[in-house]
Amino acid sequence: MARSGEFEMIAKYFTFAPKANGWKSEGAGDDCALIDLAGARIAVTADMMALTTHFLADCPPRRVGWKAAAVNLSDLAAAGAEPKAMFLTIGLPDRNDEWLEGFSRGFREALDRYGASLLGGDTTRTPLTSDGTHSPTAISITAMGELAPGTGLTRKGARPGDDVWVSGTPGDAYAALMMRIGGWKVAEPFREYLIDRMELPTPRVELGMQLIGAASAAADVSDGLIQDLGHIFERSMVKGRIDVDAVPASAALMSLSPEKRREAALAGGDDYELVFTAPKELAGTIEQLSIMLGVRLTKIGEVQARVESEDEALVELVDSNGDAVAFEKPGFDHFKA
Ligand code: ADP
Ligand code: MG
Repeated sequence: MARSGEFEMIAKYFTFAPKANGWKSEGAGDDCALIDLAGARIAVTADMMALTTHFLADCPPRRVGWKAAAVNLSDLAAAGAEPKAMFLTIGLPDRNDEWLEGFSRGFREALDRYGASLLGGDTTRTPLTSDGTHSPTAISITAMGELAPGTGLTRKGARPGDDVWVSGTPGDAYAALMMRIGGWKVAEPFREYLIDRMELPTPRVELGMQLIGAASAAADVSDGLIQDLGHIFERSMVKGRIDVDAVPASAALMSLSPEKRREAALAGGDDYELVFTAPKELAGTIEQLSIMLGVRLTKIGEVQARVESEDEALVELVDSNGDAVAFEKPGFDHFKA
């Protein structure tokens, strides 16, 4: 799978050889860095979000706070780590107590729900732009979680014969976005559901922790199901196929045309579900996990073969008859030309 702008840029400018100081990541290029300390392994992830780029202008601040925490918790979930701590760096154009009140409440609710402490950060004013105003609020979060030594999920480890699974119903957040800015018509009973899925994502923290020892590789779906699964295949040096008709859809997505449903489910970002691979013989274990956690888990394809280079790490799409499905739309990339 071709590397797109954002990833090409990271590879070119921000991939440095680790120092020989004992702190190296088991998972550079994964959702989290996994760092081994004496007797412990910690998972660390950092994400930056800007109002207007990552949130629609009318998103209530409480929801901005929840989602800012949730997207980081989702990366910890993809590593199977138990959330422990967050650092919050926030740049504000001005002091708006009503906004801060809402943001802080939503942020705290997410930390309370998933057991992470806020241990530090930084607060600054955003830069002045040429028209004399300050640029919009920017939020940068570093999240840290704990793993038992030697454990943890990465995007590497998928093996030929493994099943490919996805949690929840991917595509809902994208459908909400397209409903709001893309002119998609959605029937009234589904509108609020979709907006909630976009603004209040559920990081699959418990699922990720339970998948340790069962999943062979995992990623969270932040940039689109096929793109994020593509990263698993690249890192694992495998190729495989997805049955696009097996990808589960919410009632709201089912109400859309088959083309829109497919676009949302395969390429839509922002869902924060987990896509993972697991050996076939563990299918029963994964179905039990689904029942135990009350989280829908669906087998959507399989890993077929090893490949020699990342470029061959293709995600082939087929329908329920096994016929090839052409699908061009890539997932989201901040720097795509
Ligand atoms: P995610 O969507 O899971 O947060 P990304 O796709 O944004 O992860 O990033 C892919 C990988 O590149 C991650 O391992 C991330 O830590 C790393 N990365 C992204 N930006 C930078 C950067 N500026 N410097 C170093 N590493 C980076
Ligand atoms: Mg991620």
